[in-house]
Amino acid sequence: MCGVIGVSKHKDAAQIAYSGLYALQHRGEEAAGIASYDGRSMHIKKQPGLVADAFDERAITELRGDSAIGHCRYSTTGSSNQKNIQPFIVTHKGKPISIAHNGNLTNTETLYNRLEEAGSIFQTTMDSEIIIHLLARESNGNIEDSFVKVLGELEGAYSLVFLVEDLIVGARDPQGFRPLCLGKIDGTYMLASESCALDLIGASFEREIEPGEIVFIRGSEIKSVFMPDQAAQKKSHCIFENIYFARPDSDIFGDNIYQVRKRLGAQLAQEFPVTDADFVMSIPDSGNYAALGYANELSLPYEVGIIRNHYIGRTFIQPTQLLRDLRVKIKLNPIHSVLEGKKIVVVEDSIVRGTTSRGRVEALRKAGAKEIHMRISCPPIKSPCFYGIDFPDPKELIAANKSVDEIAEFIQVDSLKYLSVEGLHKVMKESGDFCDACFTGNYPVTPPTNKSKYLLEQQ
Ligand code: 5GP
Ligand code: MG
Repeated sequence: MCGVIGVSKHKDAAQIAYSGLYALQHRGEEAAGIASYDGRSMHIKKQPGLVADAFDERAITELRGDSAIGHCRYSTTGSSNQKNIQPFIVTHKGKPISIAHNGNLTNTETLYNRLEEAGSIFQTTMDSEIIIHLLARESNGNIEDSFVKVLGELEGAYSLVFLVEDLIVGARDPQGFRPLCLGKIDGTYMLASESCALDLIGASFEREIEPGEIVFIRGSEIKSVFMPDQAAQKKSHCIFENIYFARPDSDIFGDNIYQVRKRLGAQLAQEFPVTDADFVMSIPDSGNYAALGYANELSLPYEVGIIRNHYIGRTFIQPTQLLRDLRVKIKLNPIHSVLEGKKIVVVEDSIVRGTTSRGRVEALRKAGAKEIHMRISCPPIKSPCFYGIDFPDPKELIAANKSVDEIAEFIQVDSLKYLSVEGLHKVMKESGDFCDACFTGNYPVTPPTNKSKYLLEQQ
């Protein structure tokens, strides 16, 4: 997980990158960074924390130049290392290059070992650094050929934005796991993980970067190159972006996320209706859209039974269990007068560990709910993700260890049902173009062979 942005040849490049990162904040709350280029040198600012905390006005002014890339980072537990904050920047033969990466490579170990054997010295524990080392080795030839060659060596998930002097390079892996959009502002092209970032800064949405496409952007000029064997590749967009991760106001993978989630809710209602419920509600905010779809489908009332405190971040992201528990309680408060004595359907987008869901159900009961029927707008998450979604170790994935009935027992609901895998696909446009490995264990790209030595981090 992570968000990336790139702006080329615009006088307010750093300001635009900064504003765009605001809209991508949900993709990573742990750190943010921007690199800019002013024709002579590259400048960089990166800090732990939210975008709003990571930069002040002075920082933006100091990011001089008309080209910039930005990144917001979602790191895995325990890896909040300052050196690992992106963009990552190096100078090779006098030429500065920076990189911002969303996704997770699956052949890092092979590449890392090969580079170390050949004398590379690594500064960070990011898989993104490997890409920079590979590029440095190819730096003598034509730049487009170098990118095609280097990206051809990578396996797994990546949406990448590079700043090579004043050239912006954008790339998406051949399977298209993670999103990447092309926009235009004041006549110049830009890149962003999701279209909601383009909306915020008033850029037009041009199109998505295609899987296996590499774009070279200088202001209003764009050149597109494809990886050689692209036509033979099967697309594998991350279905979990649609279910949970992307923002509902974004259009990615050829669809609008809000509409997809409403359709998921409607499909769930067809599969597992509770027709005599007093009302349907969601666990805000991520469950809102599926809950709306569920209620509409059954013509049931929709109520807001829980109020969210908007002044804190997402709870999952906190690195320790203690903080996570505390923040779960701060975040949401049920409304007694709505819930008292009621038979309710609670729609949630997903269950990962089950711990927050259990806490929410307990709070709903305390607030007076009489019967709680929980409906989940995706199938049980049983397998880890190697392509950039930060699911915990399978030991902690509740559905990898318990049956649906046992999960219902654990979270103390009167009934629990998950959307079927068939239903999930039925709702997607071009359903064959999605990766559903977290539900089915069908991995479209071979996972890393030696998982215990899986030492580089997800981006
Ligand atoms: P659980 O009951 O498994 O502890 O938590 C489920 C909640 O976590 C759901 O509300 C879901 O929206 C949210 N969730 C699912 N996946 C992720 C994730 O990768 N990151 C964050 N921050 N929340 C997640
Ligand atoms: Mg949620």
